[in-house]
Amino acid sequence: MASDMIGEAPASPGTLVSAVTVVAPGTPGARLVILGKQGAGKGTQAVRLSRHYVVPHIATGDTFRAAIRSGSEFGILAKRYLDAGELVPDEVVIGVVKERLTHPDASHRGFVLDGFPRTVGQAEALETILEPLNLDLVISLEVPTAAVLTRLASRRVCSSCGANYSVPDNPPKVPGICDVCGGDVVQRDDDTEAAIRRRLELYERETAPLVSWYSQRSLLATIDGTGPLDEVTDRIVTEIDRRKLGAV
Ligand SMILES: [Zn+2]
Repeated sequence: MASDMIGEAPASPGTLVSAVTVVAPGTPGARLVILGKQGAGKGTQAVRLSRHYVVPHIATGDTFRAAIRSGSEFGILAKRYLDAGELVPDEVVIGVVKERLTHPDASHRGFVLDGFPRTVGQAEALETILEPLNLDLVISLEVPTAAVLTRLASRRVCSSCGANYSVPDNPPKVPGICDVCGGDVVQRDDDTEAAIRRRLELYERETAPLVSWYSQRSLLATIDGTGPLDEVTDRIVTEIDRRKLGAV
């Protein structure tokens, strides 16, 4: 419902729309960052936002793989660290993202960045890359830890074919046996409650400075990530469009 209303919102003439050549007229782009802990539905909402605004979804993992495949300057560097099992240093991460952001799709219409930036240093680098433009909004998708724990702790995966199940909602027909291939359906080692809690705490620690950095710049929107996917998407889009129109 809300997305229909937003679709009809008057395109602000002379701003983003003027750069659009191949997308339906009146479809505004957007420059977005999405933050959210594991299990908050960040990836799902990032895909939905990328469709809504017709901008690329730039997920860090995919971007790294693509950069390595393409043999770009920073792709080659990144591969060296990954092959050695070492942490990829910030300047290489930033370089890979910068290469991606200069592709015409992203530079013309915008992007949904998912997994970058992770640190204030990366956020500062992103600001420099985008100059003289800026982000439209940073979305922090908030889901209570208890809800995330329940969601993640219920995940099961087939150890042979990778099919996904969840214990209460979508279990295999025969407990422990994959419907698809008959393999063992198990809980991943890193999906135990203790492991999930550790990851969530790490996320909070790492992300808190980033959240306050963006908040100080009035770029942060905290969005309730609970409830049906469509409702969450509507909340995010409503907030993005409100900010974008307000900024004109
Ligand atoms: Zn299977």
